[in-house]
Amino acid sequence: MTADSPSSLVPPAVARTGLPTVAMIGGGQLARMTHQAAIALGQRLRVLAASVDDPAALVTSDVVLGSHTDLADLRRVANGATVVTFDHEGVPVELLEALVADGVDVAPPPTALIYAQNKSMMRARLAQMGLPIPAFADLDGDDATAVLETFGTQHDWQIVLKAVTGGYDGRGVWMPTDADEARDVLARAQESGTVLVAEQKVAMRRELSAMVARSSFGQGAVWPVVETVQRNGQCAVAIAPAPGLSDHLAQAAEGIALRLAAELGVIGVMAVEMFETLDGELLINELAMRPHNSGHWSMDGAVTSQFEQHLRAVLDYPLGDTRARASVTVMANILGAAQAPEMSMDERLHHLMARMPDAHVHLYAKGERPERKIGHVNIVGDPARPADQAYVAQVRERAERAATWMSTAQWTDGWDPHGESATTTGELA
Ligand code: ADP
Repeated sequence: MTADSPSSLVPPAVARTGLPTVAMIGGGQLARMTHQAAIALGQRLRVLAASVDDPAALVTSDVVLGSHTDLADLRRVANGATVVTFDHEGVPVELLEALVADGVDVAPPPTALIYAQNKSMMRARLAQMGLPIPAFADLDGDDATAVLETFGTQHDWQIVLKAVTGGYDGRGVWMPTDADEARDVLARAQESGTVLVAEQKVAMRRELSAMVARSSFGQGAVWPVVETVQRNGQCAVAIAPAPGLSDHLAQAAEGIALRLAAELGVIGVMAVEMFETLDGELLINELAMRPHNSGHWSMDGAVTSQFEQHLRAVLDYPLGDTRARASVTVMANILGAAQAPEMSMDERLHHLMARMPDAHVHLYAKGERPERKIGHVNIVGDPARPADQAYVAQVRERAERAATWMSTAQWTDGWDPHGESATTTGELA
């Protein structure tokens, strides 16, 4: 731990190897998995963590303890680092601008990151670029109540209300069932000082995510577009590539991601979350300028993972190959169960490995709390098998069965881990 070491010194690892030090703001699972990629590149990640128990603080020795809203802490973690990047979007832009003024290389720069922090600015910019987004109305002025009435009536009260800043994993998103509930959400938000944006509720076929990387040199690379499945407003499953997506829509989604990365000046990886409407159109929902849950499949299912690619992009290395290794890869999140099972995580892992030797498990060393993302499972399909509907369903069922087992210690197919069949060889995709 170098929590209080004189940060003006060149970190010892850099002095010895000449390889860069990337500093990441935030010590969550995204930083933990970025550190995993940093190791392979001869680096170790420096993290600004809130606690020694944070997922990334547990695995890197280069930890600065502090707050992402404290400029002095940000300066400490930036000092001597080659570049500063993020595992979340919560750092106030004014503080990042101060770091930039200090001469720190911040990637993505605050001029780009602002569009991932502020849903209202993002919508205005996307509209200005002529990109497809759901109809929206800002509810930030004195006339917010009147604007909501007009917008709600226009859309038959089929609307979604979102906090302009600070939301994640569906927190800060409200789906009122009628006009009264919508008015109530706005009133409560106004009382608490939360600014909202109203958006048309989209009748969608499914949700998609286009992950892209862009280096400071300007090189861009995009992974195959994935389908994401949300439960309770947060991503539960990602299927890569999105099954049955037409070439036309895949190219359109990839083109949008590459164009956004270039025009917003993104450096690093970015997820562009989209809706595929019932009419077969794309609408952009959200931007995340960091490694993202919809890219976790790439750790095992793509030639280059999003975490390595993020490092390559922020360090201005040439980008890696983004092709998929198989016709289908499915990622399923391991969420904390409503009640943590009595069986230990270690024993659950043991049983999963016995039953599914091809499952790639990624655990974040987080405590089990209901609905909390504590890990994920990737199942990479057999590269020799085409991704027809039946095979995609089979791989998805296995990934979800594995993740549910890790959450709840229950097999969704009723399999008994201590029964006779438990001793037979494990199944494969
Ligand atoms: P967060 O920033 O918390 O992830 P999002 O804006 O991505 O919030 O919304 C979370 C989820 O809510 C989306 O993944 C989607 O399932 C649903 N949602 C958001 N906006 C809309 C909309 N305009 N129409 C229909 N569903 C929506």
